[in-house]
Amino acid sequence: MAVGALCERCRTRSVVFAREDPPGMRLYRCGGCGEIKRACPRCQQRGWLRHYLVDATPPSRYVCDHCMATWDSSWRSMTPEQGVWPAEVWGERLRAVVDYEFPRDRD
Ligand SMILES: [Zn+2]
Ligand SMILES: [Zn+2]
Repeated sequence: MAVGALCERCRTRSVVFAREDPPGMRLYRCGGCGEIKRACPRCQQRGWLRHYLVDATPPSRYVCDHCMATWDSSWRSMTPEQGVWPAEVWGERLRAVVDYEFPRDRD
């Protein structure tokens, strides 16, 4: 996955490696729409990290859509144990948010 992956947003295959931020977390950028995507280091970049807000401190959760690995905003691991329903770890009110702004949306 990652390089050459299908961009869900613009349906093109123009995803390229951008940089690591923080070290070990690989960021990719879609050449079609400019979206920045964060690949999961735990499952060898098979999943993208999705950004959610929960009722906790800190409120951010980055959740892999492939392996469920989870981090908070300071990159502390919050991955739920196997068999634990994620709501017990993340709370009930999980709200998806956009991780980065899309530069071209501001035109
Ligand atoms: Zn795109
Ligand atoms: Zn993963």
